Amino acid sequence: MIKTDLHFHSYYSDGIYSPKELVKKLKEKKFQKVALTDHNTIDGVDEFLILTKKAGLKAIAGVEIYTDYQGRSFHLLGYDFNLSDKNLSFSLKELQRQRIPRIKKAIKILQMDGWKLNEKEVFNTISSYQGLIHLAGPFQKNPQNWKRIKKDFNWFPGKIIPITEIIAKYFVGKDGHLICSETTLPFIQAIKLIKKAGGWTVLAHPGQHLSWRDDGLIVEFKKMGLDGLEAISSHHSWSEMEHWQKVAKENDLEITIGSDFHGDVPKEWGFKVRSQWEY
Ligand SMILES: [Zn+2]
Ligand SMILES: [Zn+2]
Repeated sequence: MIKTDLHFHSYYSDGIYSPKELVKKLKEKKFQKVALTDHNTIDGVDEFLILTKKAGLKAIAGVEIYTDYQGRSFHLLGYDFNLSDKNLSFSLKELQRQRIPRIKKAIKILQMDGWKLNEKEVFNTISSYQGLIHLAGPFQKNPQNWKRIKKDFNWFPGKIIPITEIIAKYFVGKDGHLICSETTLPFIQAIKLIKKAGGWTVLAHPGQHLSWRDDGLIVEFKKMGLDGLEAISSHHSWSEMEHWQKVAKENDLEITIGSDFHGDVPKEWGFKVRSQWEY
């Protein structure tokens, strides 16, 4: 058996580690086949491929693109594409560029609500695509904000306030949507983009986006050119893994495995991803 992980993030999106640190960890954990799949960016891939080669790991190019289909959100993984494909890098740069005004607007909304947060702190990152974590980090760190958060959550010494709860409480608007939504490509467009760049595509953690009644959608996705399902995902329960493997087989789709590791984030952040490599 080849120990494989085809889904994790670096500090070029919302992961904690650099490609170098990731390769070191992958090597320690004895992975053999790997792919770095940052959100809406391939900025770290070149570096990652060079480092994995040096370390004797098999690696392929990867990316995780935010997509939409019929008003629903899906994460599409792209693999083994040509890194210098102009259309792909242009489209990803566009998604990154469109993200900036959304983040700025979110900062304004928070400021208007009396929170202390400025653009400089949020954009002070190597990341090419700012995630919610880039808002939440400095937001929570500010002592004045922290005082208010503690009050809102009836904090007492030792109580943990997970970052996911902070995001849910303060970063969701009255309409129930996040104050800064991700920038997306239409699902079919993202598939075509990866294919034209010589790659293949996989629907990430299907169990997160689809219910068991949505199997029909997979048939549609396959017609659009989808190549595989990430049936083995740390977001899935055992029964979900079984289900999505079965759906993949029925539709003659590849089955892939991914941890969606973002980093060993502090325990108090309450992220599930902390233990993903233990999974
Ligand atoms: Zn995802
Ligand atoms: Zn991911």
